Amino acid sequence: MKNGKIGVTTENIFPVIKKFLYSDHEIFLRELISNAVDATQKIKTLSSKGEFKGELGDLKVEVAVDPDQRLLFIKDHGIGMTAEEVDRYINQIAFSGAEEFMAKYQDQAIIGHFGLGFYSSFMVSDRVEIFTRSWQEGAKTVHWSCTGNPEFEMEELTDDSRERGTTIVLHLSEEMKEYAQSEKVEALLKKYCRFLPVAIVFGKVKEWKDGKYVDTERDNVINNIEPLWTKMPSDITEAQYKEFYSELYPMSDEPLFSIHLNIDYPFHLTGILYFPKISNNFDIRKDRIQLYCNQVYVTDQVEGIVPEYLTLLHGVIDSPDIPLNVSRSYLQSDPNVKKISSYITRKVADRLHELFTTLRADYEQKWDDLKVFIQYGILTDEKFAEKAADLMLWKSVDGKYFTPKEFTELVKENQTDKNKDLVLLYVDDVVAKYSFIEAAKAKGYEVLEMNGQLDSHYIHWYEQKNEHTRFVRVDSDVIEKLIRKEEQLKMTLTSAQQELLSPVFESQMPQDEKINYHISFEAMSADDAPVVITQNEFMRRMKEMAATSGGGMSQFYGQMPDNFTIAVNGNHPIVINILGEVEKSYGDKLKSITKKIDAATQEEARFEEVIKGKKEEELTAEEKTMREELSQKVVTLRDERDERLKEIGTENKLVKQIIDLALLSNGLLKGKNLTDFIQRSISLIEK
Ligand code: ADP
Repeated sequence: MKNGKIGVTTENIFPVIKKFLYSDHEIFLRELISNAVDATQKIKTLSSKGEFKGELGDLKVEVAVDPDQRLLFIKDHGIGMTAEEVDRYINQIAFSGAEEFMAKYQDQAIIGHFGLGFYSSFMVSDRVEIFTRSWQEGAKTVHWSCTGNPEFEMEELTDDSRERGTTIVLHLSEEMKEYAQSEKVEALLKKYCRFLPVAIVFGKVKEWKDGKYVDTERDNVINNIEPLWTKMPSDITEAQYKEFYSELYPMSDEPLFSIHLNIDYPFHLTGILYFPKISNNFDIRKDRIQLYCNQVYVTDQVEGIVPEYLTLLHGVIDSPDIPLNVSRSYLQSDPNVKKISSYITRKVADRLHELFTTLRADYEQKWDDLKVFIQYGILTDEKFAEKAADLMLWKSVDGKYFTPKEFTELVKENQTDKNKDLVLLYVDDVVAKYSFIEAAKAKGYEVLEMNGQLDSHYIHWYEQKNEHTRFVRVDSDVIEKLIRKEEQLKMTLTSAQQELLSPVFESQMPQDEKINYHISFEAMSADDAPVVITQNEFMRRMKEMAATSGGGMSQFYGQMPDNFTIAVNGNHPIVINILGEVEKSYGDKLKSITKKIDAATQEEARFEEVIKGKKEEELTAEEKTMREELSQKVVTLRDERDERLKEIGTENKLVKQIIDLALLSNGLLKGKNLTDFIQRSISLIEK
């Protein structure tokens, strides 16, 4: 019997460590099982080398609980330890390792993975016992026991009935008694040990018999000892990849496709990544990539190890070369991690490329699910953007898919404006903007559908990368001005006539606190609608960006009302008709007041001519009064005419009707205005 004190100077390491790792204490189980698996692998190696000549026996690792006694057992049939080895590995190395660990990470937020080993069992136990018998000839069973302070007891047992291997017995503390509950332990085993290379057995498989569950003879094996990623890619079928996916994520839809990672140099990494079916749903982070270290589950927080956009993928990565007991910020600067990250990026891009070139139809079919992922990659990862620029597809409103290159090639002739800018038309809502799309198609333009979460960012990115290319939403201007060409349509309405119609239409503008409307007269085709409502591309983008970002400028734009233009088609027969009716309603008075306005305007202009060149302080008092009076006269006359024109506008049902039709086609006609419109329509039909 040997009593001793563990070779650590700090007596208070236990309480510190218990507190320190409080949040992550369940990892003790993984640590102990990893040790058991290691010991098992070692005996296999010794046997294969011929150094161990005895029977290997059944090499499973067994886990058992005794909830009444608050006990947890972990038993392996590995190499075991001699007394001297327990002294060396447990009393000295394990404990001093823990001390070193503490010293190193005292001030850091550690992620709590690995590094503590056997020692972590004290996070949950009042006492830990080891029964171990080495593989070596004539080795005796060693019993070691420690109560959670640096003192331990160790003795060699005379009882020779124990088999080779090690049993760890944890006497769980009162607060940690849940670790002696079957359900809890089984859940933890499933989390950490699912793919360990040695069978982990927890009790027997249960069977439903005579109204209750009873144990069968069969071992309840927790893990799949040969997970798919450990096999050679050439030996795996497509069906097996899918099967493995549903083993990983039983509740998820079938993945789009998989990527097998397998590299030995300059680092070791294996794994299988899957493109999940995203379907416009960004909330896919519940299923995550799982990180393993030699088949031991480590974490599903892979941020910092793989590029951000790849965290959208699913699957497993297994690498012993990722340093795990360091902080996240350190991880990102680790050269190995950087290499791993760019390796994965390359593999993903290559695989996409392969699919794109060999299975284009399939690729297109999956595109709607792939799109967010690829855009996310393009926007956040320069390297990926370079490789993926040609993997991007644009979908037209007719449901056809084009690469950017194909598409620009297709439209460049018809959609280059007079400044040699290529104008790419798009739409966010195919149904709501139907009339705009039809107008564009009538001109022979192609319209793209852009309504994904990242489309506006992508558009911005694309414009930055491609000079002389602009995306323009199909409703951002009247069709004639979407892509400005040399030849422009003439407008039937003269500017004097536009001046008359302005107040008429203004009187019928919709009133809305959140939307500013303003009138403009446009030279459009007589076949186009009489009134079209457009939203300026620049202003709209400013507002959209403000909505998604922070800062002072964004506040400014964010609070601004939406701006819509009511574009009146200056060539449309109805508009020309309305002008005629306005002139008729106003009668002779219109001519006389217009004459007066013209005369007053001329008078004002003549006077301006007289005083031209004089500075403000050189003007006499009379001159100032005169100028004031003349300008006032024009304003008064105009006001008088506008007043009357507005009245006429109100009386003329057609004006309101064609504005409402435009609002209706933009989905802007609602509530009372819509009801009024319907009633007015009926009365117009009845006439
Ligand atoms: P690590 O596993 O990181 O080396 P541990 O503190 O977990 O650190 O274990 C220290 C050493 O104790 C191990 O390296 C191993 O030599 C020995 N050991 C621990 N558990 C077992 C076991 N179940 N069977 C045989 N040896 C073990």
